[in-house]
Amino acid sequence: MALHRIAVLGAGTMGHGIAYAALAGGFDVQLFDVDGAALDTGRAAIGEIVAKALEIGKLSPAGAREATSRLGASTDLGAALDRADLVIEAAPERLNLKLALFAEIARLAPPAAFVASNTSALSITEMAATLADPTRVAGMHFFNPVHKMKLVEIVRALETSPATLQAIEEVARRMGKETVIVRESPGFITTRVNASIGNEAFYMLMEGVASARDIDKALKLGLNHPMGPFELVDLVGLDTRLSILEYLHRAMGEKYRPCPLLVQYVKAGRLGKKVGRGVYDY
Ligand code: NAD
Repeated sequence: MALHRIAVLGAGTMGHGIAYAALAGGFDVQLFDVDGAALDTGRAAIGEIVAKALEIGKLSPAGAREATSRLGASTDLGAALDRADLVIEAAPERLNLKLALFAEIARLAPPAAFVASNTSALSITEMAATLADPTRVAGMHFFNPVHKMKLVEIVRALETSPATLQAIEEVARRMGKETVIVRESPGFITTRVNASIGNEAFYMLMEGVASARDIDKALKLGLNHPMGPFELVDLVGLDTRLSILEYLHRAMGEKYRPCPLLVQYVKAGRLGKKVGRGVYDY
């Protein structure tokens, strides 16, 4: 069955990017946010991506007008979910908030709709359990900024059906993305590997193996990483990275114990670029 209409719930950093990718893939998109101002900001951000695509010749003026005409935005969840073939949830990373939103999806979305969550780490199985048919739910983990990043990790929860995976893979493909399928597990592939590399880098810094600049330089020039682990953690936020490691440590044991130096940096308020200082000063 071909999917036409996608409801994106949450118009923040990820939601607006997912909505743009869906427009670019030819879908009708309904963007929803509980906060009218956030919805306006999300819509404006989509406008900026469209303008940039026009400027660099990725979209023609007619193509840009046509794509924009397929975007609807609402603070009314029922209206946003009306006739949706796929719902992509991109609300804040708090389990209780997501469970409450899923309960509303269960009440208001067409029963035949597929449902995906963009969670970075939470259990899709737990969210799926709130729906009458959990086989129609999977994870769709996009990367920031969505319009530039090629990958979508598709997460197979306990009861996700093969038909759901196939439908979601097809949507991602139409959005121009590459996919990997991951069995639900903490941190999927990318979050788990990234957190491990970042933690190891902090251990090396703590042990005096090399300076932060040289560790970053080694991974960039020796291993071809586009950014060094400290440049990256400064961007992600040291507090965010710490909470991911704490979660992986709780779920999977000693291997993921956060490095004491990272904990100390967070206690010192060195949270990264967003506050002007992290591993580096900005
Ligand atoms: P964000 O804070 O930028 O945006 C969240 C939006 O959701 C806000 O506009 C907020 O008003 C809205 N919202 C709040 N409650 C809501 C509700 N009940 N229903 C609908 N919308 C609601 O957050 P984000 O960075 O876009 O993250 C969204 C999700 O994507 C999270 O699960 C996060 O873990 C995941 N994610 C984030 C990144 C990233 O780099 N930021 C990358 C991959 C995945």
